[in-house]
Amino acid sequence: MNSRSAPMSDEDSMILDAIGKWLDRDVRPHVLRLDHADEYPTEMVAQMKEMGLFGATIPVEYGGLGLSASTYVRVIEKIAEVWMSLTGIINSHLIMAACVARTGTQSQKAEFLPRFASGEIRGGLALTEPDCGTDLQAIRTRAVRDGDDYVINGTKTWISNGIQGSCFALLVKTDPAADPRHKGMSMFIAQKGPGFTVSRKLEKLGYKGIDSAELIFKDYRIPAANLLGLEEGHGMQAALSGLELGRINIAARGCGLASAALMDSVKYAQIRQTFGKPIAQHQAIHLKLGEMATRLQAARLLTYDAARAYDSGERCDMEAGMAKYFASEAAVENALEAMRIHGGYGYSKEYHIERYYRDAPLMCIGEGTNEIQRMIIAKQLIERNPA
Ligand SMILES: Cc1cc2nc3c(=O)[nH]c(=O)nc-3n(C[C@H](O)[C@H](O)[C@H](O)COP(=O)(O)OP(=O)(O)OC[C@H]3O[C@@H](n4cnc5c(N)ncnc54)[C@H](O)[C@@H]3O)c2cc1C
Repeated sequence: MNSRSAPMSDEDSMILDAIGKWLDRDVRPHVLRLDHADEYPTEMVAQMKEMGLFGATIPVEYGGLGLSASTYVRVIEKIAEVWMSLTGIINSHLIMAACVARTGTQSQKAEFLPRFASGEIRGGLALTEPDCGTDLQAIRTRAVRDGDDYVINGTKTWISNGIQGSCFALLVKTDPAADPRHKGMSMFIAQKGPGFTVSRKLEKLGYKGIDSAELIFKDYRIPAANLLGLEEGHGMQAALSGLELGRINIAARGCGLASAALMDSVKYAQIRQTFGKPIAQHQAIHLKLGEMATRLQAARLLTYDAARAYDSGERCDMEAGMAKYFASEAAVENALEAMRIHGGYGYSKEYHIERYYRDAPLMCIGEGTNEIQRMIIAKQLIERNPA
């Protein structure tokens, strides 16, 4: 289903076109097998690297494609329509890059961004710990200054790309007694090495193929030069700056998945016959398709609006929160409706519907749960409209 949206440059249209061809040729035929085997898509990752997708939103001056958020969401939506897991491999990496681009020093940007953009170094974001995800200020991973280094101890969990990635934007406490708590938080660009190990791969309901892992830091020594911004106390701000783009990305993934569920249903409903006619001619199915299409369109408009706000440099946590909340719920609802429309086949592993149903709920949880998004929206609403 097409949606009217802001015009794109010829170059951006060509990128989207190339991605569409790649998805049809090299991804779509292999998704069922890789997803069911929970196998890391090594070849597809190499192709994404070749296409420059690990530098999608990294500025051109650092070797990236320099895509606007408005174009990036269309890229993510297109990929998520075929296999949502692939978007996580790029997105956590690009959030790490956004943290460096927005809060790193010139020399940190010059050192890391070109290597992130080429995909030579790949990784993600390490915030969550076994005892806390939403309440990030409660983290316990600790960095203690020791000469020209810091020594880090702690555990991070649920880290996307944790096994395959080699570098992570790592949120730590540098002053656990700080009040307010965020002033004692810092972020490091942490590359794997002695003291930084993966303890286990985490098994999941969906979001297969991409690795989610627990990371252990035991007397991990890191140069002070890797402290983002070279100043302690700005870690929470760095994490939040990356999460704005992350939430818009989740919204785009939700749109992609909601669209796949709808389009599979539109096709199936015209083929499957009951009582002498295609189910697409039964009014009960019309009601479902009508609701699914409207939900998708609303999710897209919110997502494109959030991306536009991000591109204009406006504060956009309310817009990103609305888009993430609505589009992820749309994905969950469309996946379930697609399963009802497909009847028993929706429950079969020979179709994609059961995967949409397993993948969709993650988007209500990741990058800040939907409970938290509604709180962000309400707080912004009040702040922007003083009595
Ligand atoms: C597949 C997967 C991939 C992930 N990838 C990453 C990653 O790459 N990097 C990373 O750092 N993390 C990652 N995460 C972690 C994810 O960000 C957290 O799971 C998420 O932020 C929620 O934290 P939590 O699981 O600790 O839930 P909790 O914070 O324990 O929340 C539990 C419930 O309480 C609700 N709640 C909490 N506080 C409030 C409140 N104040 N008011 C109302 N309700 C509240 C929540 O909304 C939720 O419903 C990933 C998680 C999954 C499942």
